[in-house]
Amino acid sequence: MAVLIFIIGTILGSFYLVISTRLPKGEDAIFSRSKCDSCGKILKWYNLIPIFSYVFQKGKCSYCHKKISSENIWAELATGLLFLFTYLWFNNGYNFFVGLIICSLLIIIFISDFKYMIILDSPLIISSILIIILKLIFIGFKDTITSILSGVALFIVMLVLLDIGKILFKKEALGGGDIKFSFLIGLILNFPIGLVTIILSSFLALPYAVASVIIKKNNELPYGPFLAGALFIVFFNYDKFLDLFNFLI
Ligand SMILES: [Zn+2]
Repeated sequence: MAVLIFIIGTILGSFYLVISTRLPKGEDAIFSRSKCDSCGKILKWYNLIPIFSYVFQKGKCSYCHKKISSENIWAELATGLLFLFTYLWFNNGYNFFVGLIICSLLIIIFISDFKYMIILDSPLIISSILIIILKLIFIGFKDTITSILSGVALFIVMLVLLDIGKILFKKEALGGGDIKFSFLIGLILNFPIGLVTIILSSFLALPYAVASVIIKKNNELPYGPFLAGALFIVFFNYDKFLDLFNFLI
């Protein structure tokens, strides 16, 4: 079972890389066939086996022998390992499925936000729908409604933060994608722990923000990966964060 879940992860990882690099450029990610970036040759199924194809072709296109971006193997490996980790951590049930969705978002947002400074709408929408379905199945109607309202509340909090940021810094401190993403965080974790997650994300982003201002003289940072990272940490340690929250309150 663990091996199967790892393999599914690598296949999806390859798909997530395609989504997060093609959609921001306005390219079709689902219906166009995969092709070599250098020679444009349409790739056969045996060129597209996660990890194996890359290793056996020694990282080169088997037609024009130009180097293939190593992003492919990293996205496949990272997603496979995250899926395996989720299985070992939760085994199955509600937390397992939601954990897989969070790992998927982590990969997609990591790539699209660092490369193109964008959080795509479609993964957020699909994830929200899947989470609502999972909550209805495993947790029940009433708690699902509470979660949806939590998402809306967190969305509003982030919108207010955006406005405060605008007044303080005279520019947009948060992107629209970050605000939409916070709906999903509230939906998954409910309001109080969702808020804890937002706070944690700012601590995670701080060292990177300081470094990028000093080294790159750049004060625009992609915030999505840190939100996704905080969501991952909190969801996988939910009880600990709930205890901490209750203790502080
Ligand atoms: Zn080629």
